[in-house]
Amino acid sequence: MSLNSDQIERHKRHILLKEIGGPGVAKLKAAKVSIIGAGALGGPCALYLAAAGVGKIEIWDDDTVDRSNLQRQIQFADQDIGRRKADLLSARLTALNPDVRAVARPQRFSEASTPYGDILIDATDNFETRFALNRMAHETGRYLVSGAASRWSGQVGVYASGVSPDAPCYQCFVPDMPPEAEACDEVGVVGAVTGMVGANMALEAIKLIVGSGEALIGRLLIIDGLTGESRVLKLRPNPDCSVCGQ
Ligand SMILES: [Zn+2]
Repeated sequence: MSLNSDQIERHKRHILLKEIGGPGVAKLKAAKVSIIGAGALGGPCALYLAAAGVGKIEIWDDDTVDRSNLQRQIQFADQDIGRRKADLLSARLTALNPDVRAVARPQRFSEASTPYGDILIDATDNFETRFALNRMAHETGRYLVSGAASRWSGQVGVYASGVSPDAPCYQCFVPDMPPEAEACDEVGVVGAVTGMVGANMALEAIKLIVGSGEALIGRLLIIDGLTGESRVLKLRPNPDCSVCGQ
């Protein structure tokens, strides 16, 4: 897939990197990514992927913009209150980069949904959808990039149990819905932390697409925004896992 002169100009800073280069930009152009959740994590993730020239991006979200979202969902403006997030975000992506084919799926994601992405991005805020996505990624042999943020901290991981037999899935790490599961509207979250998580999810997807660096497969990046420290936990496959165990 060749690049025209406008695309070469647009992506020059990526072309200059030996880990991406022209072939990497061409791989990004050929890539298909499904982002589930158009909120605080999905917004920055989608914007960075569109800016990087990911060819097809699908946005799943059944929600509309609320005034209380604007403290962190910086892809939306005050005038967007009441409008559908999937429609608004997909229009933002096309405005940012007309080469991107952005598709809005303004519906609730479920286990019956059929996302087209080769990479699934979990930018949701509920465990029901996370678990459905994890099972789908495992059964259909796709990568799952998953992120979460709460209060001052965030986490990002890549789950590849459907791609590599020795990689854990999300439910090796979180087998059941945690009893203390809390939604961010109940506990609060710093907007800038959600931006860090969203940008890190985009970064992981870009590495998977271009095939450079080390994706966070079997590892969990934990960002502590309050102390400015981050650490990486090793995650192992659980042989008794209800999704990927033998
Ligand atoms: Zn598992």
